[in-house]
Amino acid sequence: MSNINSDLALFNELVEALIIEEEKNPVAKRIDSSKLYETIDLSLNNGAMIDDDFKSLLRDVLVSTPKTATNLFFNQLFGGRQSKAILGDLLAVMLNNSMYTYKVAGPQVGIEQEIIRQSCDLIGYGSKSNGTFPTGGSMSNYMALVMGRDAKDPSCRLNGMSKPMIIYTSKESHYSTAKNASFAGIGRNNIRYIIADSKGSMIPEKLEEQILDDIDKGFIPTYVNATAGTTVLGAFDPIDKIADITEKYKIWLHVDGAYCGSVIFSEKYKHLIKGVERSDSFSYNAHKMLGTPLTCSIILVNDKKQLHDSFSNDADYLYQTDGDDFNLGKTSFQCGRRNDALKFWTLWKSVGTNGLKEIVEQQFDLANVALEYIRSNPDYTLYSFDNSISICFNYKNVDPMVLCTALYEHQITVVGFGSFEADTFIRLVTINANNEKEDILNFFKVLEGFVKKTPSLTK
Ligand SMILES: *Cc1c(COP(=O)(O)O)cnc(C)c1O
Repeated sequence: MSNINSDLALFNELVEALIIEEEKNPVAKRIDSSKLYETIDLSLNNGAMIDDDFKSLLRDVLVSTPKTATNLFFNQLFGGRQSKAILGDLLAVMLNNSMYTYKVAGPQVGIEQEIIRQSCDLIGYGSKSNGTFPTGGSMSNYMALVMGRDAKDPSCRLNGMSKPMIIYTSKESHYSTAKNASFAGIGRNNIRYIIADSKGSMIPEKLEEQILDDIDKGFIPTYVNATAGTTVLGAFDPIDKIADITEKYKIWLHVDGAYCGSVIFSEKYKHLIKGVERSDSFSYNAHKMLGTPLTCSIILVNDKKQLHDSFSNDADYLYQTDGDDFNLGKTSFQCGRRNDALKFWTLWKSVGTNGLKEIVEQQFDLANVALEYIRSNPDYTLYSFDNSISICFNYKNVDPMVLCTALYEHQITVVGFGSFEADTFIRLVTINANNEKEDILNFFKVLEGFVKKTPSLTK
């Protein structure tokens, strides 16, 4: 039955086995999805499973689960393992607080607020700013959209929308904007997708043209989403120029930094989000560039009144002590809310702000290693640009989709593909800050070796 000490001992034993396995086989043995249920016994039954059977099943599940922390995982916008953040998350699980009230979360409230305060200072938001930890980047974008909607027309909180409200985002932005528009009652058809330049950044002149056109038609321009690190190319929209426009027409400006907003920690790369202090809201995912466990997303708001106006609700059964500044449920979407702050705080506290800077800059250094390698090797075609940690390329005449799938199916390395305009390419993401230059060069070696061994790919 339930025995925390013996289960923690089991945890340690399993994790030890996992780490050894990761070193031996950095890419998990793949189970074909059509054979999943016959390969591992995932069934839940009336009877209990205990002791060695239970342990051995857990071990099987662990080793056959995709390994996202190894030096051959380049597929996603997260990866690697920051051990001090893992420690924090494990402690958060043990403590099991809910972040809605000071009564229940105590110092954890201060931990969350300290991260928010420091983050606001880093981007130059003033004393009225604050924020919260949503469930992820998509939810951060959703909360921003709702605040933008309510700021434009406060009565729509009570009555719904009176006239079509229009939102603007670049064609290269994250797909959550479309879902969020439908959730927020704006409607997917009221999104204007602004075209991007040849490097994937929104063209501000096109944005203004579109806004003027909408005003002409009697619509209400409401919200602009700018992206700091687009999902495919890792491009940055020109925030200063976009802010000139949103200020002129009184439109909410949100900066979606889920992918690369963590450049706020680097003096060297902060210029990529120049003007961010002029935005109304800004979000970033510490589980992407900073390598905390999933999920750790932060939204900052230039004027905390907006957050409160859109998300607070009275609830006598819940808010019984302390003031609103300590009862974080007054500014969150959920009621019960997981503690996502502690893992980020243990990381930040243990490495310092300078350490976070190094984590961020290491990824650009690794990206530069990949860029240089590709540029100096005529077998490759490059599709990405400087100041991006998404390195997009093709190798010889190999179809990128076929290659990525074959690399995955043969447990060689895990990498994905993406498209920009008419091109499709492999996208190597250098987000694992534990990787070294050698790991990046090894990736290319492994890929080239596989293509050489697999003549069908090049025919
Ligand atoms: C990853 C990403 C998101 C979504 O974040 P989740 O935490 O996965 O919901 C939003 N915007 C951008 C630019 C992203 O890269």
